[in-house]
Amino acid sequence: MRRTSALLALGVAAALLHPTGAAAAPAGEAGVRRRLLAAQRAMGPITVEHRRSYARILFLEDRIARVERRIARARTTAREAMRGADTVTRTWIAWGLADLLAGELAALSAHRRDRLALRALRREQREGLRVHMREAHRVIHDALARFGPAAWGRIWPVPVRSGGDLRACPVAGPWSLTDTYGAPRPGGRIHDGNDILAAWETPVIAAHDGLAVPVPNELGGRAVIVHGPGRLETYYAHLTAYGRTGPVRAGDVIGYVGNSGNARGRIHHLHFEWRPAGDDGIDPFRRLIELCGPSRG
Ligand SMILES: [Zn+2]
Repeated sequence: MRRTSALLALGVAAALLHPTGAAAAPAGEAGVRRRLLAAQRAMGPITVEHRRSYARILFLEDRIARVERRIARARTTAREAMRGADTVTRTWIAWGLADLLAGELAALSAHRRDRLALRALRREQREGLRVHMREAHRVIHDALARFGPAAWGRIWPVPVRSGGDLRACPVAGPWSLTDTYGAPRPGGRIHDGNDILAAWETPVIAAHDGLAVPVPNELGGRAVIVHGPGRLETYYAHLTAYGRTGPVRAGDVIGYVGNSGNARGRIHHLHFEWRPAGDDGIDPFRRLIELCGPSRG
């Protein structure tokens, strides 16, 4: 027992003296890395809860739609039955309908109340993430000014995998990710990618080799498409600034996280799309988790 705790203490001391992965970085850069890893660790549990509340909201949306459909169907059926019926029959139908709807309406208001509470919870969770992201932004901003973008590969190294379309995590810094692919968006649009929450000015990374082309537009703001091999494309939107353009390798910095375009005033994030055949996106969530996490350090 004593031997085990002595070994444990030795391990802890060694870990303090030699933080994981920071061996190659000079002291100042290692400090930056430690602070960013701390932010990532703090964001981890909130991210998990944020994902859970999103899944519960989707479930409730589905339940609400089902109840609403049943209510509408019952009302239509009653209206049709009343047509041409005498007063007594109409009264009976109206009573029957009221009886039938009482339970459905109670369920509907319960679902709506729960949805409201979940939305409030999600606002709280986002505010929690925002606090850590603000701190991460201060660290990133100072570090970029002090050490320059060239040091970023040592401060937050992004491993490049050997196989698959997507080979590198698209952000080089603390991140939080919920699968919002397919979510409805204003104007009847559908969310064709994932939003990766990350601090303002976090370097944005090419997920594969290709040609990085700026494609500024109203929705995406400052945005980049990387044209990969075959018809593969990846799309990176809401940047605050561009990085390297033209021919790039997986792992190169092609921009910096912001909230330009229709994300103005909203939480900083990278909108990321994976288009294997150059047109519609497919859900990148699982691959992003493989590349970026589950947690670092
Ligand atoms: Zn988005």
